[in-house]
Amino acid sequence: MQRFSGTNVIVTGAASGIGRATVVRLVSEGAAVFAVDRDAAGLADTAGAAVGLGRVATAVVDVTDEAAVVDAVAAARAELGSVEALVNVAGAHRTTPIGSLSVADLRELFEINLVGTAVFCREVVPLLPDGTGVIVNVASTAAAHGNPCMSAYSASKGAVLAFSLSLAAELIGRGIRVVPLSPGTVDTPLTRSVAVAPGLDLSAFDRIRSPLGPARPEQIAAAIAFAASPDASYLTGLDLRVDGGSHI
Ligand code: NAD
Repeated sequence: MQRFSGTNVIVTGAASGIGRATVVRLVSEGAAVFAVDRDAAGLADTAGAAVGLGRVATAVVDVTDEAAVVDAVAAARAELGSVEALVNVAGAHRTTPIGSLSVADLRELFEINLVGTAVFCREVVPLLPDGTGVIVNVASTAAAHGNPCMSAYSASKGAVLAFSLSLAAELIGRGIRVVPLSPGTVDTPLTRSVAVAPGLDLSAFDRIRSPLGPARPEQIAAAIAFAASPDASYLTGLDLRVDGGSHI
């Protein structure tokens, strides 16, 4: 399948997990990707994983740095010539039992998960082509379902979901699609760091596990590629849950 021939895509959070798998999937299908992350070594590994598959340019960017995001989008346009799609994957997680919730954690989660996503959207929207432009914002099942010890993370992802739904309504007149995509539990460094949070009773998470087990990053990347592709040309403004039935 070459669903992304001639399509230039910005992917954030590209140095690890779901973001890396997304870059590999998109270039395998013909996209040229401008891959963004704050982790330079991880970005290099992603570029290495894509060698021979397609074109990947990288930029080390902290998505919470507004000026750096503005510069990155300009650099992507200069490097690729145009931008047809944006996939916001960069995100962070903290386990925050309510008794130990800190304002610093809350602010950091909102800065990375919401503000980073929003500023990338603001900068890319003017570049997207009417009729075919697309944005996929990775939210989480935590955005719309109760996940224990994750109230701060969930709130930040709920904000990503709400932001994306309203942006979809704003851009539908231009024929630009916006799809918030909500993974369930995925086996990545992010979930492994949750599992080692001190004092956490992991049985609390039994209620949000999929009977299918955790997803592989490639399974989420496949759904992101679908949502960003012409196969999903009538799909916009909905929470696309890819959660292995964790909340049936
Ligand atoms: P991951 O930790 O493997 O990857 C996250 C990437 O985001 C990393 O490369 C990291 O360097 C980057 N990042 C974090 N903060 C950044 C910043 N300020 N600037 C630039 N880059 C930054 O995690 P993952 O599991 O692949 O998560 C990807 C996305 O999927 C996140 O938004 C996460 O919230 C979401 N998600 C993950 C799961 C899961 O179970 N793993 C479930 C639902 C949603």
